[in-house]
Amino acid sequence: MMIFFEVLLHRKKHPRYRRSNLLSGCLFVIFILLIISSQTSAQTKKQTLELCVDPDWMPFEAVINGRHTGIASDYLALFTQLTPYSFNVKTSDTWQQSIENLMQGECDLTLLLNRSVERETYLSFSIPYFFGPNVLVSKTDIPFMQDVNAVGNMTLGIVSGYRLLEEIPKYYPNVNIVVVDSEEDGLRAVDEGRLDVFVGSLYSINLTIEQLELTSLRVNGWISIQDKLRIGFTKANEDLVPIFNQAIDEITAAQHNEILSKWSNVQVVENKNYTLFYIILGSSVSIFIVFLWRHMLSLKVLHALSSKNEELNNIKQELEAANKDLEYLSFHDNLTTLYNRHYFLTNLKSHLAQVHRQHGESALLMIDLDYFKKINDQYGHGFGDTILRQFAEVLSASLRAGDVAARWGGEEFIVLLPESDKDASVSFAKRLISGLGEYRFEQDIVVTISVGITQLTQQDVVDSWIERADSALYQAKRKGRNRIETAY
Ligand code: GH3
Ligand code: MG
Ligand code: MG
Repeated sequence: MMIFFEVLLHRKKHPRYRRSNLLSGCLFVIFILLIISSQTSAQTKKQTLELCVDPDWMPFEAVINGRHTGIASDYLALFTQLTPYSFNVKTSDTWQQSIENLMQGECDLTLLLNRSVERETYLSFSIPYFFGPNVLVSKTDIPFMQDVNAVGNMTLGIVSGYRLLEEIPKYYPNVNIVVVDSEEDGLRAVDEGRLDVFVGSLYSINLTIEQLELTSLRVNGWISIQDKLRIGFTKANEDLVPIFNQAIDEITAAQHNEILSKWSNVQVVENKNYTLFYIILGSSVSIFIVFLWRHMLSLKVLHALSSKNEELNNIKQELEAANKDLEYLSFHDNLTTLYNRHYFLTNLKSHLAQVHRQHGESALLMIDLDYFKKINDQYGHGFGDTILRQFAEVLSASLRAGDVAARWGGEEFIVLLPESDKDASVSFAKRLISGLGEYRFEQDIVVTISVGITQLTQQDVVDSWIERADSALYQAKRKGRNRIETAY
């Protein structure tokens, strides 16, 4: 090559060789093109790498309708740009089969997997470039679990071939592990009660629960073992590690974020059973309506009650008034408004007891209008009533405080004169008679009375006292009327 360049330079310095310069230049260009072409074809041969994938591990990666998709496929696009390689996706039915393909060198690399001691025996790893939490999934009735120890005696499902199957028994030797074929199998087993807890990547579990509508499940805790996903190269390709590490370094934070947000925008599935939510919502609304209804009702009831109360108050007042009337009527004589016989007798009994105790004096007067029948006969019964009322007025006017007068019946009246001796009681009767004389009755008729007076004795009971007054009155009648008789 140096000789060739020297010849070219030499020839440029000598014009006689100018005609052949053009030919030499052409030869040089052809030579360069041949070199580039040979290098390019050599690179093209090395560029296509066989890629093993997990066929069912969304959102990380999956093969759907023969197309590689998920987080890994987006990174694959970046690696295609950032490295001199292209990739051929080698499909398999299970992740386990992909692992075997890697072990047997049937593919060159896989894009997203955790490093583990076991895997390092047949793979070389790039630096990690995708990080994600691992979570515990259980039925909703199991309390929140923090780390693997919280699984306790329960069974813990881990997918066959997953790194967690290596690490969890190592760090948590007492955990009762059940190996399942896939994430879907594990989650269905928990859903159907064949398995208590399942552990796996938050992103994939979340998506699977949602897609399978496993509403009885929820992400119920996390474990300290985090996913740090790397590219795994077969040992035959370990010289690719620095090339891809450099490519990983060149991936910007924005590119990482774009991929993460594209594939992890699913909400954490904690409990997709909206039935409870609707029950709670429905209950809350119902309770609110019931409270509102009760409030309205109580307002209505309060209003009704207050108007009823008012009504009752009015009735009560009416009743009280009626009661007063009744009381008045029960104690009083309707025609004359004096006390009636019943009240007088009641009052007389208590008075008698009191006077007996105090050894005092009391007088009882029985008064009867003379020839009253004639008045009725002459002027009519109504007129007779008027006379009775007028007589009651005169009688009432004659009373001192403490004296009690009552209509005994018909045209007969009775008067109790407490603390009255014989003289006082006789003078009371005289005053009454003279009062009648001065009183101008209806039609100026003359009304006379007969009065029987008696004093209370220590031996007296109500009846004996009244009888004696009555017999005194009888004497007054017998002796010609319009007079006072005493009986002691
Ligand atoms: P005496 O002097 O013997 O008492 O004769 P008297 O006519 O007064 O007695 P008598 O017992 O013969 O008649 C009583 C009359 O009083 C008869 C009755 O109609 C009348 N009398 C009784 N109560 C009432 C009343 O409430 N109103 C009227 N207007 N008359 C009455
Ligand atoms: Mg009479
Ligand atoms: Mg009489």
